[in-house]
Amino acid sequence: MSAAVRRAQYLEALGIERWVPRGAVASTPVRPAEPLATDAHGPAPAGEASAPEAWEHLREQVRTCTACELHKSRTQAVFGVGNPRAEWMVIGEAPGAEEDRRGEPFVGRAGQLLDAMLRAIGLSRETNVYIANILKSRPPGNRDPRPEEVAACLPYLHRQIELVRPKLLLAVGRIAAQNLLATDAPLGRLRGRVHHFGEHNVPLVVTYHPAYLLRSPAEKRKAWEDLQFARRVFAQTVNPESNDGHRC
Ligand code: URA
Repeated sequence: MSAAVRRAQYLEALGIERWVPRGAVASTPVRPAEPLATDAHGPAPAGEASAPEAWEHLREQVRTCTACELHKSRTQAVFGVGNPRAEWMVIGEAPGAEEDRRGEPFVGRAGQLLDAMLRAIGLSRETNVYIANILKSRPPGNRDPRPEEVAACLPYLHRQIELVRPKLLLAVGRIAAQNLLATDAPLGRLRGRVHHFGEHNVPLVVTYHPAYLLRSPAEKRKAWEDLQFARRVFAQTVNPESNDGHRC
């Protein structure tokens, strides 16, 4: 699929108009992007509890967690959603009001935008991506997570990453990126580069948080560049011979 068609899909999905010359793409029918990822993992490594048991155990630990003060104000813990064997994993910050109410990450307005962004590169929570947050409980008033809350919650995310074994991590927003990479570098310095996470050196790409994009729609163009970059990183990861016409 050409870059122009993908861009047209993104524009359509995000409701952005007059962002690129229209002539080039106007006659191109918009249809869902081809899936990028497959469910290609083999069975869980030997010695580990079966994957369903491990997931169930983890889910229960998160559901009943009282390791930080947020358990007192949350409606429920928000675990994660998507294909537990996905090759792409998206990491956000923390549940908001709607997520706290419904028990699923990214279901508010920012979540709808995230879904549109993912759809534009052939991903969806129903099929081939797994979505989780740094924090599993909602910070009151959607304030930033506190260091002690992150410290208490991060091991759950690490375990989720271990169980999913993604080939690419996409960190959306400063909080996710800084905490996954243990840095205080600003988001602008973290975008546009391949980072690596954990002992398996999982490639990690950083982009804007969709809530920020809702407030600053002019930045959607840069987010689209980030998604294209992430696609290339993924392609090189699964097939190091391919460079998709670009170097990462
Ligand atoms: N913002 C996030 O970072 N995560 C959610 O689940 C919802 C909004």
